Amino acid sequence: MLATAYALHFTGQIVYGTYLQVTSQIEEGNLDQIGELHALSSGLKAFASWECTKGIEECRMACGGHGYSHASGLPKIYVDLTPGCTYEGENTVMMLQTARYLMKCFAQVERGEKLPGFVSYLSTNLSTKSSMTSDVTLDCLVNAYEHRATRMIQTAALRIKNLVSEGQSQQEAWNNTTQQLVWASRVSYLRF
Ligand SMILES: Cc1cc2nc3c(=O)[nH]c(=O)nc-3n(C[C@H](O)[C@H](O)[C@H](O)COP(=O)(O)OP(=O)(O)OC[C@H]3O[C@@H](n4cnc5c(N)ncnc54)[C@H](O)[C@@H]3O)c2cc1C
Repeated sequence: MLATAYALHFTGQIVYGTYLQVTSQIEEGNLDQIGELHALSSGLKAFASWECTKGIEECRMACGGHGYSHASGLPKIYVDLTPGCTYEGENTVMMLQTARYLMKCFAQVERGEKLPGFVSYLSTNLSTKSSMTSDVTLDCLVNAYEHRATRMIQTAALRIKNLVSEGQSQQEAWNNTTQQLVWASRVSYLRF
């Protein structure tokens, strides 16, 4: 829980920095990175509030019966923070916003185009089996997360393509793939 809290804190700082940078670009009339900022922040809101809700419940369980008591402070934290999964953008809907951007980026990769920083991992070579070495360095773990995220994004993109080739409209195919799209968006945050 502490590691997750630190990870979210520093991710929040990076995203806030990106927000300030993109806002000043927008003020100068440059809208190039607005899509990237939207995708980054909408999914992160969902990821962070889901992790937070799960974390509160885990802490409550760890306290046994005391976790249920107001004396622990946890019931108030729970009631204050769980609505964050719903308001300011319902989480599933937010993840689907990120998924739309990821699908666009994946199509760019397929066309051989270069991608912006935070999605550059989508160019990961999926034919490699494993990059894990016996010392399990942080780089190995990041590679594994990136590989999994790219694979899941590819799976969702292929499913949409197949459904369209079977005669569904783009919108129907999208709606019939939303579960895979939410999974793919969620794992793309785990690589942070
Ligand atoms: C404590 C609290 C305070 C609030 N305060 C305010 C406020 O001050 N001002 C204000 O305007 N609003 C406020 N709201 C309302 C809030 O913004 C909405 O509840 C929120 O946007 C979700 O919309 P909804 O309730 O219509 O749920 P829905 O959008 O109907 O969601 C219901 C379910 O459907 C799913 N779903 C919806 N769309 C899709 C989709 N496209 N694909 C797959 N699944 C989907 C969702 O995941 C969810 O599980 C508040 C809500 C809460 C809980």
